[in-house]
Amino acid sequence: MAAFLLAPVIGLLLLGVVFGIVERFWPAIPGQRRRRRGWRTDIAWWFVQPFVANPLTAGMVIVMAVVIALLAGSGPGSENIRAWLDRETLVNRQPPALQAIEALVLLELVAYWSHRAFHRLGMLWKFHAIHHSSEELDWLSSVRVHPLNEAGQRMAQAVPVILLGFDLSYLAIFVPALTFYAIMLHSNVPWGFGPLRYVVASPCYHRWHHTSEQEGLDKNFAGLFPWLDVLFGTFYMPRDRQPAQFGVRGEVVPESFWGQVLYPWRRAPAARPPVHSGASQPAD
Ligand SMILES: [Zn+2]
Repeated sequence: MAAFLLAPVIGLLLLGVVFGIVERFWPAIPGQRRRRRGWRTDIAWWFVQPFVANPLTAGMVIVMAVVIALLAGSGPGSENIRAWLDRETLVNRQPPALQAIEALVLLELVAYWSHRAFHRLGMLWKFHAIHHSSEELDWLSSVRVHPLNEAGQRMAQAVPVILLGFDLSYLAIFVPALTFYAIMLHSNVPWGFGPLRYVVASPCYHRWHHTSEQEGLDKNFAGLFPWLDVLFGTFYMPRDRQPAQFGVRGEVVPESFWGQVLYPWRRAPAARPPVHSGASQPAD
């Protein structure tokens, strides 16, 4: 088997063992089935991410970078465009560590608002609804992401990075850890990270984002930093309970892989569930 195919297979097996143990001994919802509804579909999504979503996203970001460079007056030709993208700016003259911290906050800020847009805007929601359709949330649910949802969010993040001239090479080494972290946030564990609950995202925090219970709708949009939700009034994480129900309300997302891929283009999907507009509850 070719190495490029072997890596995702090994990753799937390894994470299956790790989270199999973790979810068995620290379950947020005890007794949740391992082979729950839609697990085969999520296995398919697992392989879509490296072989379809990532190359598609990279391609779309590159095209966008070229367009931005041309609009900014780089002049035609690959050498001119490359020179513009590699130009020295006030931002990339800073020390690498400082630049990496600034980039992380900026990327998270854009991800927060683009995530909110995917919840608010009808056409975008139809793509994002796929990710919210798991009714038994676990680590494997994390990979159920429509490629155009992924590409859209990454393109939104790339715009300020390109315009400001950030050098992200120092952040690249953290990508595997951040990917693992995103998977962990969906796992069936109740961890809220105690005093760090507002500082860094926890499974409890993110599982409230996935709940279909009214009180948690349209809350907890940040990927890494819950304090962004506190800042913008969308934080919700009560200390005394865990979310118990997941999925989307008011519409039926197909369980099959191809049904989910094509779902955004289906005619007349049911209405978006009502947006929860309550105030944030940072004291809880
Ligand atoms: Zn969401």
